[in-house]
Amino acid sequence: MKPEDRKTPAKTTAAEARDLARALRGGDRRALARAITLIESTRADHRRAADRLLRAILPHTGGSIRLAVSGVPGVGKSTFIEALGLHVIEGGRRVAVLAVDPSSPRAGGSILGDKTRMEALSRNARAFIRPSPAGGTPGGVARRTREALLACEAAGFDVVIVETVGVGQSEFAVADMVDMFLLLLAPVGGDDLQGIKKGIMELADVVIVNKADGVLSTAAERTRADFSAALGLMRPASPDWVPSVMTCSALTGAGIGEVWGLVKQFNDAMTGAGHLQSRRADQARAWMWNEVTETLMDRLRADGRARQVVTAMEEEVAAGKRSPTEAAQAILAAFLDG
Ligand code: GDP
Repeated sequence: MKPEDRKTPAKTTAAEARDLARALRGGDRRALARAITLIESTRADHRRAADRLLRAILPHTGGSIRLAVSGVPGVGKSTFIEALGLHVIEGGRRVAVLAVDPSSPRAGGSILGDKTRMEALSRNARAFIRPSPAGGTPGGVARRTREALLACEAAGFDVVIVETVGVGQSEFAVADMVDMFLLLLAPVGGDDLQGIKKGIMELADVVIVNKADGVLSTAAERTRADFSAALGLMRPASPDWVPSVMTCSALTGAGIGEVWGLVKQFNDAMTGAGHLQSRRADQARAWMWNEVTETLMDRLRADGRARQVVTAMEEEVAAGKRSPTEAAQAILAAFLDG
């Protein structure tokens, strides 16, 4: 095989990447879906094409309101996102929804894998819904979700919603890629904080008690008051925004308009003070360092010599025969000097 022939597939994907970038910018949803598939691919030639694509679209990103919607399974996230999404679309905007769910790969039923979720939204031509990428580490999934978010922006979506199951470390990764973090809760009795970790509460720019309807109305109001008190004890993350607790019913639509009003208020407050720009700049810097770390770890894992040392070192550290610090040095020496 001549060297030129070996290059052909990569060249083809490069041309495809250029075409994709063009189609994306035209707002073509199929092109967006293909772009995200390329972004999520682990094949090296796809990765190169995805990098090219991202470089081409980067100047056309940054124009959306980036939202996270988090909450434990069953709290009503998909019902809420559908209601909010349709409300926003009625106002003339386009909405994209991305999911981060490292706990359940697509084949096993991703949080968005079930076709009945967000049925009306998924049928709407002004919406784009993308299930979570299959498998992978939370870090890996979040890594690709950031890029998918940029692709949605380049495709002209005005609001990008990243959905995440409110139980683990993916919340922190997602908070690092959005402008505003919406935490959904269900009405409960008493002062049960629903197993929501304080750390996740601290991420919230607004806490929304969903299912404030019918027999749950009273409990929803009580939950709102309890969480207002809990939030009042926390120091706001930004001087320009004090997180609050509100109620809504994703099922009846009550309060959804108010939620969107608050999102716009947040966006105005943060943009006006220049905080949105600096928040995004910080996020981009953190993302860059995360890429450095992840790429180094990928290389380390793929390195044959380092791998041999890793196995031995893990055993010696576990058996107390060697200190973790010394073992880490040995692994790095094998990797860097090997
Ligand atoms: P997710 O797992 O967080 O995405 O939750 P879903 O959106 O799938 O909703 C879980 C269940 O709660 C479903 O049976 C919904 O119909 C119900 N649900 C969602 N929102 C509301 C609401 O505002 N009020 C009531 N009463 N039920 C709701």
